[in-house]
Amino acid sequence: MPTMRIHLCGVRGSTPAPGIEFVRYGGHTSCLALSHNDDDSGSGTRRGADARRPTLILDAGAGLQRVSPLLGGEPFDGTILLTHLHWDHVLGLPFFAAADDLDARISLLLPEQEDSRASAESVLAELMSPPYFPIEPSQLRGQWTFATIAPGKLQIEGFDVLAREIPHKGGRTFGYRISDGRSTLAYMPDHCPTTLGPGEDGFGEYHPGALELAGGADVLVHDAVLFPEELAAQADFGHSVADYAVELGKRAGARVVVLFHHHHNRTDDILDGLARRLGSDGGPGYAPEVVVAAEGTVLEP
Ligand SMILES: [Zn+2]
Ligand SMILES: [Zn+2]
Repeated sequence: MPTMRIHLCGVRGSTPAPGIEFVRYGGHTSCLALSHNDDDSGSGTRRGADARRPTLILDAGAGLQRVSPLLGGEPFDGTILLTHLHWDHVLGLPFFAAADDLDARISLLLPEQEDSRASAESVLAELMSPPYFPIEPSQLRGQWTFATIAPGKLQIEGFDVLAREIPHKGGRTFGYRISDGRSTLAYMPDHCPTTLGPGEDGFGEYHPGALELAGGADVLVHDAVLFPEELAAQADFGHSVADYAVELGKRAGARVVVLFHHHHNRTDDILDGLARRLGSDGGPGYAPEVVVAAEGTVLEP
């Protein structure tokens, strides 16, 4: 019986991609919303009948707008967990309607920064304050708290969370492994494994951190920004080739690989081509099922 529900609220990377060429896969940037699917979880105990509403949000890109309709008009009561602070992962924060409510309770967690004395709120305020934006984090309505986290194990909203630092570019970045005790999601939207070397296939190292996060996961949501023919010219952009995500899933024994964080210039037709090239239903014998992330999809591993 499925227990975890994963809403793909934003699947695009770098910058939103509006327009008729992007309608089927969606143009909002990174955001996943997780809920417990039954009432016997830790979260269910606290939330009772509201247990199916999302309580844990991964990244706050433009897709965060899509979480409010999932809450049935109720204020958000839960945690937003950021992988890192790049624009495409935080730009939805001030536009989260269900948090813009005096009764909302939002715990915002982000990776501890290189200057560990910097508070989470002051780090966020560097990118969200005048003249860059009209308000600061402290002026958001609702009961917001801000904190940093270190790599390791945490308990968040009734989920077991493992945080590991993974290579990306320009700022400390975490990948997460999230389990409800029955289903496991691995989430690495921005990952540059070539930072550690080319690896056997030239797509980057299948390093211990990535293998630990993805090991035996029911769902691996992974960076698929680049196509192989782009790697030579764009290796220093901080991202993965889609083929790396599939091979990581294979090596780690993941059941489903979700190709994610699509480049903003990938039209629906181009992503259909990616699905034809790498998509798989898992087939006979072991190979992960491979799907191209589409906004609005709900996964129940
Ligand atoms: Zn990104
Ligand atoms: Zn990034």
